[in-house]
Amino acid sequence: MYFLQPSFVWLLAYLAVTVVSSPAPQSYNLSAFDPKDIITRDVAVIGGGSSGTYSAISLLDKGKSVIVIEKQGRLGGHTATYADPTTGTTTEIGVQIYHNYTIVKDYFARFDVPIIDSAGFFQSVDNFDYRTGERVTLSPHSQEEVSAAFAAYSEQLAKYPGLNDGIYLPDPIPEDLYLPFGEFVDKYGLHAAVPTMHYYNPGIGNILENPTLEQFRYWSLNGMVHSIAAGFLTTARYNSNELYTKAEAELSQTSSVLLNSEVITAFRSEGKAGITLLVRTPTGTKVILAKKLLIAIPPKPDLVKPLDLSDTESTLFSKFINAGYYAGILSNTSFSNETSTSNAIQDDPYNLPALPAAYNFSPTRIPGLQIFHYGTPQSKSSFPLTNEEVQVHVIDTIRRIQEQNLDQYDLTEPEWVTFHSHAPYTLQVSAEDIRDGFYEQLYALQGQRNTYWTGAAWRAEDSSLLWTFSEEVVLPALVEGL
Ligand SMILES: Cc1cc2nc3c(=O)[nH]c(=O)nc-3n(C[C@H](O)[C@H](O)[C@H](O)COP(=O)(O)OP(=O)(O)OC[C@H]3O[C@@H](n4cnc5c(N)ncnc54)[C@H](O)[C@@H]3O)c2cc1C
Repeated sequence: MYFLQPSFVWLLAYLAVTVVSSPAPQSYNLSAFDPKDIITRDVAVIGGGSSGTYSAISLLDKGKSVIVIEKQGRLGGHTATYADPTTGTTTEIGVQIYHNYTIVKDYFARFDVPIIDSAGFFQSVDNFDYRTGERVTLSPHSQEEVSAAFAAYSEQLAKYPGLNDGIYLPDPIPEDLYLPFGEFVDKYGLHAAVPTMHYYNPGIGNILENPTLEQFRYWSLNGMVHSIAAGFLTTARYNSNELYTKAEAELSQTSSVLLNSEVITAFRSEGKAGITLLVRTPTGTKVILAKKLLIAIPPKPDLVKPLDLSDTESTLFSKFINAGYYAGILSNTSFSNETSTSNAIQDDPYNLPALPAAYNFSPTRIPGLQIFHYGTPQSKSSFPLTNEEVQVHVIDTIRRIQEQNLDQYDLTEPEWVTFHSHAPYTLQVSAEDIRDGFYEQLYALQGQRNTYWTGAAWRAEDSSLLWTFSEEVVLPALVEGL
């Protein structure tokens, strides 16, 4: 292809220099590359999670050639479905609800994955202070109070139509958008909406301290606010993973996916030169030559380091903070198959848990198995806690609840069935950065050096919104430039 030769020559020249100083020159010796290890595509997609997989399939449907580079051995990212090895019964540990959008229904229909109205998530709940294991008695708001609070919240959201399609903010940015959400709640009397927002949207750190914009991003008019009233969709077989195994099969058929693979080095140029990637795969190092690059991984500096960042990109990405978010399944907890337990603090104004902590333990579709969710506050660290630290904390929490409630639970030895770290989760920035135009500068990166960006940091932690954003905002510009 017309851009292939210059890129390759440039890469060789670069690598010849690198070989001199590299501690492992043999891994960079491209002159020995077999032509079968040089992959030429219209678009290279880094990250095969929710937005990367959607975008790759959409590009294929638009007649473009793609290659997806995914570091895990499967596509799907935060989507995780556990199947009981004996019965085959499935239960979701990750993504499970979707908005009732045409794009969502079309995507599932394309892979023949049936979807149904979601039955809702409010199981009966026993509340405990997980710090002590002691029972907590709550006085929930009435349904009328909650509805009124969401109506008042919607009135405020309606002032910012640019948040329905992405993060398009007025200039200057009104102070309301970077107020801590707790102050915004006080200002507009939205208190009764907070417990529902917390319940549906864990993994965001402290909801009351986060800038209001960061809450608006996810709880947008056409997103959560719409579906809380209209209902959600879920997969009829309780198996969101099916979407990704089918997408993976289709991508594999056209040699369009590299699993267990990571970019070692990237060269992103302007104009016709396109982009060049050196990728470590299970079958050796490959060179990828593409006209455009779509990056669909969290743009934390430590994760995107090999991607040939510009100074502007490095500066912007260094501003991101994130939470640690973890989920998994345990057996032998002695917790109920009908009732969830939830972490609540009696004397907190909203009964919110003190993080880091487990949010809840809930029954799954498989009797005897409980799912848990655990979160940390926001911090600069992409991985705020080790998996082992979270696991110890989770088991200690179960023990405290058991010990304080022996009339209800037995003292057991809980066992791990599966554990998933979703860190880094909910990338966001400080109030000052929002005020100083962070998101405008972030969005201005789209298209620079033949590179486009999608994923939660650019929109919200919500698959339906991400598919919409990728399809309607990112891909049209990318395809036009091919
Ligand atoms: C427990 C849980 C439950 C959720 N429930 C819902 C729900 O019900 N509905 C909903 O809409 N949303 C839900 N979400 C949110 C949703 O999962 C995310 O918003 C969405 O997955 C974000 O998509 P993404 O493409 O940005 O990232 P991801 O889906 O995380 O994809 C990123 C991908 O990039 C890969 N990757 C990372 N680094 C590299 C690298 N260097 N090279 C190559 N690949 C790399 C990762 O392995 C991953 O596959 C949930 C999230 C969690 C954690």
